[in-house]
Amino acid sequence: DDAPHSEHFTLTPIGHVVSDYPDKFGIPRQPGLAPAANARLVLTAPYNDPLAVRGLEDFSHLWLTFIFHQSPERWAPLVRPPRLGGNRKVGVFASRSTHRPNRLGLSLVKLASIDTQQGIALQLLGCDLVSGTPVVDIKPYLPWAEAHPHAQAGFAPETPSLMAVTFHPAALDTLAQRQDSATLLALIEQVLSQDPRPAYKQKNTASDRVYGVRLRDVDVKFRQRLKNEATTLEVVAIE
Ligand code: SAM
Repeated sequence: DDAPHSEHFTLTPIGHVVSDYPDKFGIPRQPGLAPAANARLVLTAPYNDPLAVRGLEDFSHLWLTFIFHQSPERWAPLVRPPRLGGNRKVGVFASRSTHRPNRLGLSLVKLASIDTQQGIALQLLGCDLVSGTPVVDIKPYLPWAEAHPHAQAGFAPETPSLMAVTFHPAALDTLAQRQDSATLLALIEQVLSQDPRPAYKQKNTASDRVYGVRLRDVDVKFRQRLKNEATTLEVVAIE
């Protein structure tokens, strides 16, 4: 038949991300919330041509379009954003849910540098992507056209409130022995302050439940503590 060919489009990744996040669990829900998170975007041939990134080094921030490859292909018109406690529903197109038609994601990230020694790799900061995420496009961010600090943001009007994070002395000892102790400590604090626990678990009561979140090559064990009426997340071990 003569159905137009433009009904379907095929996307080919131009590269993939190698990040501080081996698992989906614990990754902040938007970019920039954990600025200490490192990622490398490694470009794949034929897109790893130096000509294709000429001029990009002069931009501080980039838009990445990527595939939520770890989400199922099925989608539904209504989703439950964690921001609404996980029980109220909004339309998928009113959300940043990973369960969406075409599974396309969009993240604004900071460009630290471009490595051209072996192939091409972009060093990024503040990514919200699991390691292995396929990237389909890169565009420079244009603040004069795209920054709208007073825009209305529906059910997510402002940055999420932060949880206090404390470290057990044993966890600090483990950290002190690492070369990347300063940046790893910052990353752990930034990630836990977002309270990665499932929305329905966040009660202001003491609980013995220990959670684990993988960051870089470590498993960070933490639990909730009620300290002088204030709830904190305490890092109990780094394994
Ligand atoms: N900033 C992007 C956007 O708005 O399209 C992503 C927002 S989404 C709510 C962020 C979450 O996606 C992270 O917390 C992480 O759990 C999840 N995630 C990251 N990379 C993923 C991937 N490749 N596949 C599925 N889920 C992913």
